[in-house]
Amino acid sequence: MEVHESSEGESILDLSRLNLETLSFDHLSEEKKKETQMLFLPYNRLTVLPGCISLFSSLSWLDVSNNGLAFICDDILRLSNLKTFVAKNNRLDESSLPKDLGTMSLEVVNFSGNRFEEFPHQFLQLHTLQSISLGGNRLKGIPPEIENLTSLELLYLGGNNITSIPPELANLPKLSYLVLCDNRIQSIPPQLAQLHSLRSLSLHNNLLTYLPREIVSLVHLQELSLRGNPLVVRFVKDLTYDPPSLLELAGRTVKSRNIPYFAEDLPDNLITYLDLASKCPNPKCGGVYFDSCVRHIKFVDFCGKYRLPLMHYLCSPECSSPCSSSSQSDADSEDESSVPVHRLQKVLLG
Ligand SMILES: [Zn+2]
Repeated sequence: MEVHESSEGESILDLSRLNLETLSFDHLSEEKKKETQMLFLPYNRLTVLPGCISLFSSLSWLDVSNNGLAFICDDILRLSNLKTFVAKNNRLDESSLPKDLGTMSLEVVNFSGNRFEEFPHQFLQLHTLQSISLGGNRLKGIPPEIENLTSLELLYLGGNNITSIPPELANLPKLSYLVLCDNRIQSIPPQLAQLHSLRSLSLHNNLLTYLPREIVSLVHLQELSLRGNPLVVRFVKDLTYDPPSLLELAGRTVKSRNIPYFAEDLPDNLITYLDLASKCPNPKCGGVYFDSCVRHIKFVDFCGKYRLPLMHYLCSPECSSPCSSSSQSDADSEDESSVPVHRLQKVLLG
């Protein structure tokens, strides 16, 4: 058992690929244990991560990938310097983790290739987390409490059974890499456009038919992968349209004709209602709408090469430009100039 030094001067103990079924560090001096900062145990036959791990009091990096681990003991909580915990390709699930794992100060966790069906609730208390990898598990969803992890920069959840994305995910100010490929996601919440730090968004192999129009405002997005989705390839018009209420019609007239109104003229609820007016995105219309609008899918050029179906809302069916299902809406390109072509460097469709 030799403790080496990494190029960055960290003390490393590498015990990978030794067929270990149990761990014993009796041959290692107390001093060596205390100075070890990185411990590698991948490709062994451990089923339990035993308590003796806590003897390595300076440990900042622990890799126990590719074992048969089904249980992680509470003693790991004593590793107060541990920042990176890698436990890929084991047999871990919700019942395997110490219940107080959330009290550690971990920054990177990689539990990809395990058996989690629920997002581990302990992770949601780890406010120091910068990177979470839970790819290749059996996750069914993402809890809305994900918004608590405000330091998060990378979230890898590819290869699960996720069907929807909570809008709260959009409240992560530092999130730069979001991987949701190989799931069963049918739609993207428009709030995702608030992820101002997002550089890479992987959505390939899902069940998406369109994207929210708001996605064009992701100013730092450099890579967007969409292959393997049933993205609509022909022009689609959704004809479901509930006629506007009298309240809505009156509100539209007040707003679109700029009729002045004052707090003393109107009850508070009407003032609030009028403030909720949304501008019709058709620049030739100039109208507004409240609750009644038409869902409309429109093709927009990205990179001058790909045409992506984006969803947006119009104030009325008359507002969409005339076009047939055979012509791909050349007359419908009035606001393509607003797409930040120079920003998106890579759109992967094929
Ligand atoms: Zn309109």
